[in-house]
Amino acid sequence: MKEIILCKYGEIVLKGANRSCFEAQLTKELRRRASHFGVFRIHHAQSTIYIEPQNEQADIDGMFESARDVFGIVGVTRAAVAEKDIDDICRVAREYLPTALSGVRTFRVDAKRSDKSFPLGSPEIAATVGGAILSCVRGIKVDLHNPEAMIRVEVRENGAYVHAAQARGAGGLPRGSAGRGLLLLSGGIDSPVAGYMMAKRGLEIEAVHFESFPYTSERAREKVFTLGQLLCRFTSRLHIHVISLTHVQEELSRKCDEDYFTLLLRIFMMRLSQRCAAQYGCGALVTGESLGQVASQTLDAIAVTDSQAGIPVFRPCIGMDKEEIVTVARKIGTFDTSILPFEDCCTVFTPRHPKTKPVLEKVLAELAKVDAEALLEEAWQSMYTETRVIYDDYR
Ligand code: ATP
Ligand code: MG
Repeated sequence: MKEIILCKYGEIVLKGANRSCFEAQLTKELRRRASHFGVFRIHHAQSTIYIEPQNEQADIDGMFESARDVFGIVGVTRAAVAEKDIDDICRVAREYLPTALSGVRTFRVDAKRSDKSFPLGSPEIAATVGGAILSCVRGIKVDLHNPEAMIRVEVRENGAYVHAAQARGAGGLPRGSAGRGLLLLSGGIDSPVAGYMMAKRGLEIEAVHFESFPYTSERAREKVFTLGQLLCRFTSRLHIHVISLTHVQEELSRKCDEDYFTLLLRIFMMRLSQRCAAQYGCGALVTGESLGQVASQTLDAIAVTDSQAGIPVFRPCIGMDKEEIVTVARKIGTFDTSILPFEDCCTVFTPRHPKTKPVLEKVLAELAKVDAEALLEEAWQSMYTETRVIYDDYR
C-alpha cells in the first residue's frame, strides 16, 4: 500500500494574486527538506501539497516530522493512496485504518469529492467506507456528533486518499516570504524565541552575536552556536555573524559613567547590527526585548536604542511575560540550552545602578567620551561568520 504526506496550507490561501509566489516558496522549502530524507515527488493542487515517496528507502516518518516544522503549513497528514474506485477505497481503508483505530471506540467518516466525475456523492462515499470500517474494526461504533476519530476520504483529480488524524503544522507564512531580518542572538531565553516568532511570520533570519572575549568564554560562544543549530529546525540554515565588543566595553568602562554602560553598549550593538543588516540584505532587526524586563528594556531605554537602529526593530516578545516566553522556548527546544549558565557580554561590566529613564542627549554626551567611530570600525573588522545547517539547499 502506498502512503503519502499531504500538507494543507493556511493563511496563504487568502493571498490572492501573490498566492503562487507563496506556494512556490513553500514547495521549495519542502523540497529542500525532502532531499534530506530520500527521493520524493512534491507538487501542489487544490490548496494541498503532495509529498510522494518514490521508493522504499524514502524516510516518510522523518519527512512527516520535518514538514510539521515548515512555516506556512497548518496541517500535515499521512494518507494511503487508493484507485479512484469505491471498492479499492474500501480495500485500502480496511488495510490502512485498523492500526490507527486500535483502542478507538467511535468514529465518523467525512468524504470530500473534488473530482465531480466520480460516480458517488460525498455522503455515499462516507457511508460505504464507514461500513467497511465497521466490518473490520471490532467493537467500534459510528458517532456523527462527537467521534473519537475522524476518518477522511478525499477523491481528488490525482487519486483517492484515506487518512486518519491530521497533525498540526507550524502555521505562519513561508520562509522568506516577508523578507529578511537580522536577529540579535544572545545566549538567553528570549532572543531564540524572538527569532522563531519572526521566522514564523515569513522572515528569513540571519543572526548577529556580540561577544566580549576573554570576558565571555569559548563555552558561551558555543552555546550560541548550539542555539543557532536548534533554530535550524525551523529556518533550515542560519548564518551567525560574530562581532567582538571587547575593546568597546573596555573603553566604555574606562571613560564613561558606569550608570550608562548598558545603554551605551546597546547603542554599539544597534549601530553594528544596522551595518550588518545592510551588508546581508536584512530590512529589519529582531530582538528578544520584553517591556520592563530589565533596565535596558524600559520605554525610555528602548526609545534610546530605537533611535540608533535606522531600520525597523521587531520585538515580538515585547508584550510577553517571562513565563510565556519560556513556554515557547520549551516548545521549540531551545530552553535547556538557553539556561546553561554562561555569561553574555551584557552580563560583564554591568552597572550597579543602570539608568531606567535615560535621556538621549545625556546618553550621547557619555558616548562622546569615547572615539565611537574608531571603536565601531574596529569591532566591525572583527566580524566572522559561522553557519549552522540542518537542511541544505535543494540541488
Ligand atoms: P535574552 O534572554 O535573549 O538574552 P535578555 O532578557 O537577557 O534577553 P538583554 O540582555 O537586555 O535581555 O538583551 C535584550 C536583547 O538584546 C536580547 O534579546 C537580544 O536580542 C539582544 N542581545 C543581548 N545580548 C546580545 C548579544 N551578546 N549578542 C546579540 N544580541 C544580544
Ligand atoms: Mg540575555
